[in-house]
Amino acid sequence: LPRKENGRRVLLKLSGEAFGGGTVGVDPDVVSRIAGEIAEGVSHGVECAVVVGGGNFFRGAELSQRGMDRRRADYMGMLGTVMNSLALQDFLEQKGISTRVQTAIAMGQVAEPYLPLRAVRHLEKGRVVIFGAGAGMPYFSTDTVSVQRALEIGCQEVLMAKNGVDGVYTADPRKDPSAEKITEITYGEALQRGLKVVDATAFSLCMDNSQPMMVFGLDEPGNITRALVGEPIGTLVTG
Ligand code: UDP
Repeated sequence: LPRKENGRRVLLKLSGEAFGGGTVGVDPDVVSRIAGEIAEGVSHGVECAVVVGGGNFFRGAELSQRGMDRRRADYMGMLGTVMNSLALQDFLEQKGISTRVQTAIAMGQVAEPYLPLRAVRHLEKGRVVIFGAGAGMPYFSTDTVSVQRALEIGCQEVLMAKNGVDGVYTADPRKDPSAEKITEITYGEALQRGLKVVDATAFSLCMDNSQPMMVFGLDEPGNITRALVGEPIGTLVTG
């Protein structure tokens, strides 16, 4: 599968935390707003695949710290991402966008299984493809899966939409008021400096495969559309 050459194909990663609007579960107003911005981007001819996180439901690492088996807790985390995927699918369809959800854990009544060639066909037909259940494997994060999916279906860019932060900073801006936003950085430098806005496995998978990534904030209205059409908001990570 070669990387798409004519036109733009991107992988948008949405944090699960954003879907919850600050609490556990799905905030329909937030998901509707996000869907509207994706619809707007797609109307410009951008092919868009989406990976949704699940932090608004469960994070395996957190549950395991509180006594659960890590692997089982990770599967709960993955199931959370499927609920977010269905919520996003619903609001996209309401806005007239054709969608498919593909999951890494088989659940035929709910979604297609993850089939990369079929995902590419959907994108070529203008459908938004939402990848749920992460990689289907414990110990992975949805950030890492986003990079893997982008590589497998030939996306030019991974767009990491974060909530509460609008790019890569010199330190965690929520903890260190002197942290400054970086507009461009290499994967090597981000890893060396231990910048954790995206997890290290995701950064290193990008680095090994020369996959560009843009980290940006989704709190600012319109930012998802801007990212989809290729505006240089946030931080560009390359190398
Ligand atoms: N998860 C997993 N394997 C994957 C993707 C996700 O085990 O391939 C689990 C893991 O427990 C993770 C949770 O699903 O904490 C939710 O995903 P993530 O934390 O990446 O969501 P986000 O922080 O983006 O909301």
